[in-house]
Amino acid sequence: MNAPLIDPFQRAISYLRVSVTDRCDFRCVYCMAENMQFLPKKELLTLEELDRMCSTFVGLGVRKLRITGGEPLVRRDIMTFFRSMGRHLESGDLDEVTLTTNGSQLHRFADDLYAAGVRRVNISLDTLDEEKFARVTRWGRLPQVIKGIDAAQRAGLRVKINTVALKGFNEDELFELVEWCAARDMDLTFIEVMPMGDLGNEDRVGQYWSLKDLRAQLATRYTLTDSAKRTGGPARYAKVVETGQDIGFITPLTHNFCESCNRVRLTCTGELYMCLGQEDMADLRAPLRASADDRVLEEAIRAAISLKPKGHDFDYSRQEAGGQMTRHMSHTGG
Ligand code: SAM
Ligand code: SF4
Repeated sequence: MNAPLIDPFQRAISYLRVSVTDRCDFRCVYCMAENMQFLPKKELLTLEELDRMCSTFVGLGVRKLRITGGEPLVRRDIMTFFRSMGRHLESGDLDEVTLTTNGSQLHRFADDLYAAGVRRVNISLDTLDEEKFARVTRWGRLPQVIKGIDAAQRAGLRVKINTVALKGFNEDELFELVEWCAARDMDLTFIEVMPMGDLGNEDRVGQYWSLKDLRAQLATRYTLTDSAKRTGGPARYAKVVETGQDIGFITPLTHNFCESCNRVRLTCTGELYMCLGQEDMADLRAPLRASADDRVLEEAIRAAISLKPKGHDFDYSRQEAGGQMTRHMSHTGG
């Protein structure tokens, strides 16, 4: 039995987020520039390499995988990868395989995902207005995403909607979003926009809307009670007494969630980021390709985990977005 992965701050690493592609069929204004340069295909880990990488992490005690991107469902043949991760669910070595998606391809893949053992999906959706949806995603179309959500629910997947809070953009839809999710029995989590990448966009819609304000607005209509619910991630939850819903709040900027961080992030090129908000990373592709012996990779993973920092440096309290990251969210998968 391999010793589990424990970082220098005694946090056990049990959660791996894996970006399987940097490509996407949307160009959300807070995430990508319109004319993104994507990586040459040869830079990407192949599906076989992704399998070997994830399986090695599972062997070291990772219990949960979240597949993300870019848009994970635009990677060619990605179902082969989901199906092959299903073997770790069957053996009991993994508790869960989930994905974060923009929903555009879910109408094609929802049934296959369920068959592969996926039970929950996070779907990103910032607005219920078609014109605003087209504006914030640039290339996305709302009816296709709604079709994907329908397919996911029909397939038996539990859906959580992730909404980026954008001042002056979706503030006026707050109650509608809450009630729409409640009516469809979907969970809802709000995310504060993070200062990622140089997006060079003049048409940036919205801006930082603190979830403290958002929550205060919710409280003008609903009775909110703090919920003890914890999902091992950065979200904190409040129960809406009137609808019975738990609403999540991911507030990387107003609250530090680092103390209990149990996760690391693998990019599609095999870089391991120990913290979403720090530039430090370890290249795992070189050791993976250097030897067919998994022990070489295991050692590289352990060495990387021993460098996991205590926390991030995002800070909006100064005039400029402090701790700004130069890489895009689509690189590390959010
Ligand atoms: N394409 C998939 C999707 O949109 O769900 C998965 C990848 S996307 C990078 C993961 C999440 O990151 C999405 O919920 C998206 O809204 C969020 N995101 C992207 N850029 C962000 C930013 N600058 N601040 C906060 N959240 C961001
Ligand atoms: Fe694509 Fe997701 Fe980024 Fe939007 S947030 S551009 S859907 S990767």
